[in-house]
Amino acid sequence: MISSIKGRSVLVTGASRGIGKGIAQGFAAAGARVLIAARSQEGAQAAVDAIQAEGGIAAATVADVTDRDQLVAAVDRAVELYGELDVLCANAGIFPDTSLEQMTEAQWDEVVDTNLKGCFLSVQAAIPALKKSEAGRVVVTSSITGPITGFPGWTHYGASKAGQLGFIRTAAIELAKYGITVNAVMPGNIVTEGLEAMGEDYLRQMAAAIPLKRLGGVADIANAALYFASREAGYVTGQTLVIDGGQILPE
Ligand code: NDP
Repeated sequence: MISSIKGRSVLVTGASRGIGKGIAQGFAAAGARVLIAARSQEGAQAAVDAIQAEGGIAAATVADVTDRDQLVAAVDRAVELYGELDVLCANAGIFPDTSLEQMTEAQWDEVVDTNLKGCFLSVQAAIPALKKSEAGRVVVTSSITGPITGFPGWTHYGASKAGQLGFIRTAAIELAKYGITVNAVMPGNIVTEGLEAMGEDYLRQMAAAIPLKRLGGVADIANAALYFASREAGYVTGQTLVIDGGQILPE
């Protein structure tokens, strides 16, 4: 049983909706104090309202993960509000689809800058505060697509998500001396606005092809993030956890 989340200060990027919001709700339900970051104050505030309606502790801030200064300000805000930062969930990500043959450099750059460089900038911004925590934690939202599987239209996305895993392995070694662990969740198909944009046919076909016969929920990812962020996981670093209903298992 995970019992060490209560009172921890947690910053979640890309938390206005989807998996990020679900992770933030999971932490708040476990008694953490959460700072919700998104590109707009209104988006972040809507997630805060949902958490506060359940009795959780949360606040909103603006942070585009392609903007170093906004990320530093978000970390400062967490410390100002809660006195410390214990956990960074580097979750923000986008997944527009474009075939490799049609892809422009601008389309490639947008995805890689958000998903991979945004992860680097988020973690780097959080290091000074996490070093002061007695048990600093970084949890990155990667994906099965890229590190394990491929999907048409997502060469840029797959490269960015595989890149995140290369990033966490070395970050884990470098930050171990501060007692900071760095791990990644690897979701399969999780029902979010972003995934619903893929269309009903995609969702139906995907659910049928998954051994557990359903798409994932955001709580499935939140539960894994809670484990990595817990004190009980203090000897786990540079690791990944696939949460996909068995999708990647061979027939
Ligand atoms: P959604 O599109 O539902 O939500 C994306 C979130 O990211 C929003 O809160 C959005 O906030 C935020 N965001 C987008 N761009 C930026 C940016 N530049 N800076 C800060 N925040 C940003 O996506 P999901 O919840 O589905 O995906 C979340 C993460 O999970 C991503 O990293 C994705 O790759 C990963 N993932 C998702 C899977 C799925 O099946 N859903 C599967 C595997 C991985 P706003 O627009 O308000 O700024």
